[in-house]
Amino acid sequence: MELHDTPEIAEYRAGIRAWLGAHAGQAPTVAAEPSDEVVVRWRAWSRAIADAGYAGITWPKEAGGQGLSYAHLEVWQSECARAGLPDHFGVIGMDMAGPTIVECGTPEQQQRFLTPILRADEIWCQGFSEPGSGSDLAAARTRAVLDGDEWVVDGQKVWSSFAQWADWCILLCRTEPDLPKHRGLSFLLVDMSLPGVEVRPLPQITGDPEFNEIFFDGVRVPRSSMLGQRGEGWKVALTTLDYERSTHGIALSAHLLAELEEVGRLLRRPRPDGTRPADDPELRDRYAALWIDCQALRVTNLRTVAQLDRTGRPGPEGTIAKLHWSEVNQALAGLARDALGPAGLETGPEAPDGGHWAYTLLRTRGNTIEAGTSEVLRTIIAERVLGLPRAR
Ligand SMILES: Cc1cc2nc3c(=O)[nH]c(=O)nc-3n(C[C@H](O)[C@H](O)[C@H](O)COP(=O)(O)OP(=O)(O)OC[C@H]3O[C@@H](n4cnc5c(N)ncnc54)[C@H](O)[C@@H]3O)c2cc1C
Repeated sequence: MELHDTPEIAEYRAGIRAWLGAHAGQAPTVAAEPSDEVVVRWRAWSRAIADAGYAGITWPKEAGGQGLSYAHLEVWQSECARAGLPDHFGVIGMDMAGPTIVECGTPEQQQRFLTPILRADEIWCQGFSEPGSGSDLAAARTRAVLDGDEWVVDGQKVWSSFAQWADWCILLCRTEPDLPKHRGLSFLLVDMSLPGVEVRPLPQITGDPEFNEIFFDGVRVPRSSMLGQRGEGWKVALTTLDYERSTHGIALSAHLLAELEEVGRLLRRPRPDGTRPADDPELRDRYAALWIDCQALRVTNLRTVAQLDRTGRPGPEGTIAKLHWSEVNQALAGLARDALGPAGLETGPEAPDGGHWAYTLLRTRGNTIEAGTSEVLRTIIAERVLGLPRAR
């Protein structure tokens, strides 16, 4: 594992810094809930990223990617976070649907879907969770029944981020109702513009409708839209989840390190009475502890990167980083709130830093739920990483 840049990585990093510096003016200012105008600008920014060769960094060249290592990807993500610039808009396509299609898709599927993901021409959402099957994902009840050359899909998904903008959905559904639950699932790629698909926004605790319900009512999906084999949807879904918790987790951790610096600045900033939050030894202690946590997370991520570069695919180790990231991110938001006092709960343009801290406090609540709750991740770490006896 390399803790310092090799000459090759240092040169790559310098190239990214130069490119970001020269193109920063094209980047959107990313609001919590982007307006349609910001989404258009963000998609154009994503296209510029793709044209510069910074999208699909680890994807094979035949898949339209750059064929580079995960260490290169980590450099790109941390430089974007350091510069305070957004990465690609198509998070689910880039970090989950795309890598799953690269790994499990037919040549025709790869040909059809990968370039539009890289260029943000098509945005994806993830239709896994359902009312009654979130942690117990394999209990999904949305069903797909084969009728001639089409799958007819009926059911409901929930908490689907980006569905309000999505052109396509990776859908986990039940095709073999008579088989045990893990063996009865299949994985479909569903066009969100098909008749019978309805997206209904759900407001989060922040007030933003960041995620959605998706209803499927007799949606007819071409038979060729299945990713992997019929009845092997669980295996494909695990591939998606491994990418979600590892490569996507590395991007989130890069943002956490940038936020750590911001909280440090907040602690040093004088209040109107001339005192600084950093004068309080309790707040200093908490910041020091979180700084150490963040360094541990950085090193854990580098281990994940080294593992990815050795084996070519993520393992369950990314789960450790996702769990740690979510808990540290929440603790950091709590520290910012305590540093600001009641002002840390204010929202709107008059609030400190435009309400960033209150928003962050609320948004981070979901971190220990999305991509697997902390309880479920601890079980995965116990069973799949540490090899302890199964809980059930
Ligand atoms: C911000 C956000 C974005 C999301 N985006 C998406 C998305 O794009 N697509 C998507 O499909 N889903 C998405 N989700 C859904 C997310 O994956 C689920 O919310 C999560 O998996 C938990 O499922 P649940 O909400 O049904 O809770 P439940 O599974 O009902 O869990 C309720 C509680 O019981 C605990 N629990 C459940 N089972 C066990 C167990 N076996 N052992 C110990 N404790 C257990 C849980 O830890 C939790 O505390 C998102 C969620 C959030 C918060």
